[in-house]
Amino acid sequence: MAQKDHSGPLLFEMETATARVIGPDGNLIERSIQVRIHPVTGRKCRITFARKKEKEAGTDALPGPPPDADQQQRCPFCRPQLFRQTPTFPTQWVPEGRLVRGRSVLFPNLFPYGRYSGVSLFDDNHFVEIGTADHGSYLDSILNCRRFLSLVRTRDPDAQFAGITQNHLPSSGGSLIHPHLQVHADRIAGNHHRWLGHRAATYFEATGRYLFSDYLAHERTAGDRYVGRSGRWEWMAAFAPEGFFELWGILPGVLSLMDLSDSDWHDLVTGILNTQRFYRHLNRNGYNLGLLSVEAPGSRLEMRVVLIVRSNYDAWVRNDHTGYEVMMGDMATFTSPEETAEMARPFWR
Ligand SMILES: [Zn+2]
Repeated sequence: MAQKDHSGPLLFEMETATARVIGPDGNLIERSIQVRIHPVTGRKCRITFARKKEKEAGTDALPGPPPDADQQQRCPFCRPQLFRQTPTFPTQWVPEGRLVRGRSVLFPNLFPYGRYSGVSLFDDNHFVEIGTADHGSYLDSILNCRRFLSLVRTRDPDAQFAGITQNHLPSSGGSLIHPHLQVHADRIAGNHHRWLGHRAATYFEATGRYLFSDYLAHERTAGDRYVGRSGRWEWMAAFAPEGFFELWGILPGVLSLMDLSDSDWHDLVTGILNTQRFYRHLNRNGYNLGLLSVEAPGSRLEMRVVLIVRSNYDAWVRNDHTGYEVMMGDMATFTSPEETAEMARPFWR
């Protein structure tokens, strides 16, 4: 690739190509396409700057509430249905059946994706618009996930591939609009667990240092993708985004979800809510969140949370994964990470 920025063993690669076409008015038009390879994930992405000018449909204003925003009586996550319509854990594992922390209730996923699959509700609010979530209930929900993972770890130490994820609204994959997190643990690694765990381990073997710490150190110095901090978490736009307005929060040197302090969890939620307010400012109402860990002795994978904007949940909005992403395997976004960071920074002040 044309432009290579070395930071020790990490390589930040990018190359810009130009496509030349004759416009409808007969004049030459030049369009830049930037290709980047992420030094951590090894994955390639494209930034098609021209498409930014083509105003995306459905983003002039934040879409209104979804049609079922007032259907509390039909929602299995609203009370009192919650206690009748959701499953419980075996009593020898969780005597009270469901895990309760503050306003959050956590129960098994009726449609599991792996051996241990839970749903953690924030509270009894059926619809919460992006950027307006309550810090306390978010914190209760994520700490409930931590407790679930801690129980799994005691019960089945081989289920070491853990994750906390969120789909906000159906455009991001959410099946119910009632806000909740998913919590996962499995003996079988997800693709990202497998790759990142291997990459962090081989990086440590070769250098004696941690992968995400070194990545963060580079981004802190480079500065143009760095967004800010919330406690020990540091936030930045991903160098080679695989989703729109992709932000990463890194907690350097922490290798297990069990090793976060109370203030780390609190500060994680602060950063997540800052990100949501940033997305709301862009008139986006759907996003995904993911925090993965390998809960195994000797894992070298540090804590990193990822948030990406998804297509708006509104009538006739196009999906953000086109034939190009699905068939070519390269995500194409329209905004440079440096511009994303610039737009996000005010939400960390
Ligand atoms: Zn509900």
